[in-house]
Amino acid sequence: MQRRDFLKLSATAGAVSCITACGSKSSDSPAPVAPAEEQLNWTACLVNCGSNCPLKVYSVDGVCTRVETDWAESDDYGNHQVRACLRGRSLRQRNYAPDRLKTPLRRVAGTKRGAGQWEQISWETAFSEIGTKLAQLKADHGPRSIYHHYVSGAYYSFASGNCIRRALDCAGGERGFLAYYSNYSWAALTETAGATFGHGATSGTRHSHIRDADFFLGIGFNPFEMRMSGSGEQIDFMKAVEERRANGQKFKAIMIDPRYTDSNLGKEDEWLPIRPGTDGAMAAAIAYEMMKGSDEDHSDSWVELNSRDFLNSYTVGYDAASIRAAIAADPTLQPKHDDGTIAITVDEMAANNYKDYILGSGKFDAITGTAPDYEKGAKDAEWAEAICGIPADKLREIASELMASSNPYIQIGAGPNRQAAGEQTMRSLYMLSILAGKLGQAGTNTGELPSNFRHNTAGMGYSYADKDGSKASLCFFDWVEAVKDGKDMDYRSHGVKIYNKDGELQRDEKLGTDIKAVFCSAGNGLINQHCDINYTRPILEDESKAELIVVTDCWLTPSAEIADYVLPDSTWMESNDIADDSYSSGETGYQTYMSSSLKPFFESTKSMYDIGLGIVKASGGDVSTYTDGKADASEWLDELYEQTKAKSQNATLNLPATYAEAQAKGFFRGHAPDRGPLTLESFVNEGAALSTTTGKIEIFSFKWAIDNPRRDTFVADDRDASTHVDMIDPTPKYVPHWQGFEDDDTPQGKEEVENYPLQVCGYHTKGRAHSSYHNVKWLRDAVEDCVWVNPADAGEFNSGDEVIMESPRGKLQIRMRITPRVAPGVVALPEGAWYKASAAGEVDSGGCVNTLTKYHPCPVSRGNTQHTIRVKLYKANA
Ligand code: SF4
Repeated sequence: MQRRDFLKLSATAGAVSCITACGSKSSDSPAPVAPAEEQLNWTACLVNCGSNCPLKVYSVDGVCTRVETDWAESDDYGNHQVRACLRGRSLRQRNYAPDRLKTPLRRVAGTKRGAGQWEQISWETAFSEIGTKLAQLKADHGPRSIYHHYVSGAYYSFASGNCIRRALDCAGGERGFLAYYSNYSWAALTETAGATFGHGATSGTRHSHIRDADFFLGIGFNPFEMRMSGSGEQIDFMKAVEERRANGQKFKAIMIDPRYTDSNLGKEDEWLPIRPGTDGAMAAAIAYEMMKGSDEDHSDSWVELNSRDFLNSYTVGYDAASIRAAIAADPTLQPKHDDGTIAITVDEMAANNYKDYILGSGKFDAITGTAPDYEKGAKDAEWAEAICGIPADKLREIASELMASSNPYIQIGAGPNRQAAGEQTMRSLYMLSILAGKLGQAGTNTGELPSNFRHNTAGMGYSYADKDGSKASLCFFDWVEAVKDGKDMDYRSHGVKIYNKDGELQRDEKLGTDIKAVFCSAGNGLINQHCDINYTRPILEDESKAELIVVTDCWLTPSAEIADYVLPDSTWMESNDIADDSYSSGETGYQTYMSSSLKPFFESTKSMYDIGLGIVKASGGDVSTYTDGKADASEWLDELYEQTKAKSQNATLNLPATYAEAQAKGFFRGHAPDRGPLTLESFVNEGAALSTTTGKIEIFSFKWAIDNPRRDTFVADDRDASTHVDMIDPTPKYVPHWQGFEDDDTPQGKEEVENYPLQVCGYHTKGRAHSSYHNVKWLRDAVEDCVWVNPADAGEFNSGDEVIMESPRGKLQIRMRITPRVAPGVVALPEGAWYKASAAGEVDSGGCVNTLTKYHPCPVSRGNTQHTIRVKLYKANA
């Protein structure tokens, strides 16, 4: 980057000039001191909050003096400021934090991983030792023994974790490594949106369409704490609601969440607290109100009279007849074993239909039914009240609002998808928009996360194919299992996806090796953000399992502390790079062309690109593939810039000719010319098929039914059995589960409910983005880390008391705050605090929620279930 390209501002710091008019002789005067010039560079906040806000970095002589936000433009909606929140504005404190890594670190030989014994080493030594070991492990155990874990702490386009992935592919004598699929945010949600609507995770209707909605139902919808940017989908939501109300148009907003979140705060007409993990029961009761009629066939129900035509035309699997008709039309929809024999009869499939489940008929009859007890009986409001805690009258009111609405917009946040029954919860909630039968009409949404007017950038790519062209990946949530004992894992047991060179899924092929090397770059998922730390930590401490753990980061995070080597990365403020608008930008898309005038920290940090290059070289790997023949990072950035410019959606940004010119301006934004399409509009109104198995909305998921006989169920280690929640069920249902509101019909489940009386709601705090920014004292002082407890549960406790939260998996210590902003029977704990304990099983004085969580994946996606926790509370030091 050429410094002359930067905007030069007049001096504001340290400027001293000699005033000759004061009468002193020129020979007595000190030599004139040139005014220090303050430089302005643009950077971006690249955490995983969904925004990537731009930031202005001012510096003098290579040292940051202040950070400002995007304030120069007007703030009229449509050309509004993408203002950073308190997190981004504390970037200077984060950059110069006392725990900033200054040199490569190596764990002291003979000490235990996680013991905190480090020695400083040179980059040459670090590269040499890591490269040599990596090459040896690849040769001895194959590329699938080398794993890079999920990371989301540096959403660059160029010098991101992809550089390290690219390095792992190119390192040693053989191409390839073990990748992961899916992510900690949206695993169950993505699976269920695909199974139901054939969509990805963010294919819902944009929030601007709420201007046409007369009813908004938000469930676990809390963007205002997740991201607090001056732009983004939450601003579109607020503007649309304001406009609708200001115009005096009919509008009602009901928010359902265990917490009274900042996404309420007056934007809602009503907040209804709900018990975590019981959304499926709530949804079933609303469905019951819509589907019940006065006769045995419910032929005069609201659904029969109002949305039956929609269900007949656009959905499959509402009732037994619909399932039978679909299979008659396409016999391949009937699940078979691999040998071709029938896995489940048509009668059995038809009996397992949504209508009978909700109304308590057929096999779900309370008296004569053959279904498990928890599935039997009518799912009426009284049944649901006892489970979810929302009064029956309120459940009927929600149903009435939904039935009376011409244009209902339903929005389900990501929180409910991280529950033990996350997949069934999401499928049950999606049923509300389907039953309403208005999809495709103005102002409506399926419940999916909204799409965005995105301006994607071109990024650094990588391959993980081995020399035969075969690719192996496992679900992000299963990586510790693969460290522990991965060689026999396959698609059936763990959803391991191994594709041959022709792209065919190899269901019976085993992974063939345990993970022997773990890399993590700008992420905290080795310890802090993965589940059940007291289970994970001893596995990672065992050097006979993973023989090499390398973390690349700027700070000594809890994940870095478990590593063998910690390599100091450059920060966002020290980087030339490209940042896009992340995944929740709403109507305003943008890009930031990052540049830096800062001196490298202690002259010894490196970008992830250079770290990757050092590893490849030292391992004797394929350097030319890694560099793609480019001399340095600037050549990469020029190329990525050209590719970014060529993307058609970036035309609205009017990007200049060169990357250097883009850096000089720094920030580009473009507001959407229109609100974008309604979700399912082309399917409903233009006859386009969905990419589900049948091409229609699948109330009964044939994809899951077909996959069911090909998958093993998860056997919980603490139950030595699979329970209801571990089954792949194609019909949306409420499922009691481990550590849920009610027990899962096992002795362990009953003990959990009895001994751990409070459910936990983990949430995104304003004080950090996941675990990013936790080490900034400003933020710790500004936003208290504490557990919220309802007054009804406070007993002898007072706000400010230090308490121990204990789950069946571990204990943490934290301060208590008593507030009616959390549902009775539920306590709320912010996620992302940094774990602090010197050994597994000790009390975590850092207050990390994953000291309490359990490893127990969802059955279809194998996604994380970290929002399902039960605890007991008692005073610390009591
Ligand atoms: S945390 Fe999110 S909202 Fe806040 S400054 Fe960073 S990107 Fe913007």
